[in-house]
Amino acid sequence: MTDFLSTGTLPDHYQQLAKTVRDFAKSVVAPVAAKHDREHSFPYEVVSGMADMGLFGLPFPEEYGGMGGDYFALCLALEELGKVDQSVAITLEAGVSLGAMPLYRFGNDAQKQEWLPLLASGKGLGAFGLTEAGGGTDAGATKTTARLDGSTWVINGSKQFITNSGTDITKLVTVTAVTGETGSGGLERSDSGNGMGKKQISSILVPVPTEGFTAEPAYDKVGWNASDTHPLSFDDVRVPQENLLGEHGRGYANFLQILDEGRIAIAALSVGAAQGCVDECVKYAKEREAFGSAIGRYQAIAFKIARMEARAHTARTAYYDAAALMLAGKPFKKQAAIAKLVASEAAMDNARDATQVFGGYGFMNEYPVARHYRDSKILEIGEGTTEVQLMLIAREAGL
Ligand SMILES: Cc1cc2nc3c(=O)[nH]c(=O)nc-3n(C[C@H](O)[C@H](O)[C@H](O)COP(=O)(O)OP(=O)(O)OC[C@H]3O[C@@H](n4cnc5c(N)ncnc54)[C@H](O)[C@@H]3O)c2cc1C
Repeated sequence: MTDFLSTGTLPDHYQQLAKTVRDFAKSVVAPVAAKHDREHSFPYEVVSGMADMGLFGLPFPEEYGGMGGDYFALCLALEELGKVDQSVAITLEAGVSLGAMPLYRFGNDAQKQEWLPLLASGKGLGAFGLTEAGGGTDAGATKTTARLDGSTWVINGSKQFITNSGTDITKLVTVTAVTGETGSGGLERSDSGNGMGKKQISSILVPVPTEGFTAEPAYDKVGWNASDTHPLSFDDVRVPQENLLGEHGRGYANFLQILDEGRIAIAALSVGAAQGCVDECVKYAKEREAFGSAIGRYQAIAFKIARMEARAHTARTAYYDAAALMLAGKPFKKQAAIAKLVASEAAMDNARDATQVFGGYGFMNEYPVARHYRDSKILEIGEGTTEVQLMLIAREAGL
């Protein structure tokens, strides 16, 4: 842990981790990225490699099978993976930050002992089921219910767009569900600022498989084709009362806290995407010739790439800043929102510019910049849209 994280003065152990993941991304992830994207197949062999490296356990203590690192270490890994394959990066991000972290933050000791070693090992994946058809940004509009029948929760409803929820190694889905009305620990203010509600929303652990739980057929997405995303249905799903995660009625508030952290992780992934576009463009602009000269010698191209580099760098400093505050135990909500905002926009802008630098080849799916062009849009939507980040920043600014 460090009080100050600068892009030029990273302590050795962080630099070594970044290099190890960079080498893995180049040698293992990059060669199969286009194939999995084309075939919309989940990269089991890559995930297994990441598991062997301990990446799924990066921020968790060794007593739970983790690597004893911190959240910033996870971010560095995400940045390196995001440079070459966003699908692989989001699989790790969702597995750790959304799948396992709620257990680590809010689980009791028995729950942690039962689930964290499996999730930290990467041999099993956890998913985070908050979004529903009628409530993404307005996640407090949850309609899924869980009622107690004796000492058993009975869950009914559906979730939408849930990452890592239908793979062969998915072992757990944590869902938010309405568990009552009013009373203590009632609904918190939602990201959408829609005000106070009366529902009590709790988080409940649903092991996979459980009777009545179904991961419906995967979505046909614009990008992140090798990442696993499903609608989920819950039809009288019965799990023990002890599967309540955290305090009764605090599920929604707890998930918002998880999303604050997750925004730093998504910012790191976005910086990777933005930097990946720069790296591809620098190589290409030196090789591709037009009118007798490498296109990188034309200022129009060189300046475009320079601006891309500046976007990636400034977005990186934004996520380092948010992570440093988080590691120091200081408030970081605004900085996380800023990092997510500028980094996701940097990724999208760089993907568009990189496609331009590549000309017609940039529109061919086999080129990494074309994949970044399709993949990057969701960075401005998932784990809080651009509009949500602006709302949070405006609110923190006193508006
Ligand atoms: C590939 C993928 C993976 C995902 N993975 C997960 C996952 O693992 N778990 C999970 O729970 N969810 C997941 N999601 C859901 C994702 O977090 C939501 O899609 C996102 O939060 C936006 O919600 P929505 O789609 O319902 O859009 P909506 O909330 O309907 O928003 C539509 C538009 O309206 C805007 N808007 C909404 N309210 C306001 C307002 N008050 N003021 C101004 N503008 C507003 C939004 O910014 C957006 O532009 C995933 C989504 C995708 C596409």
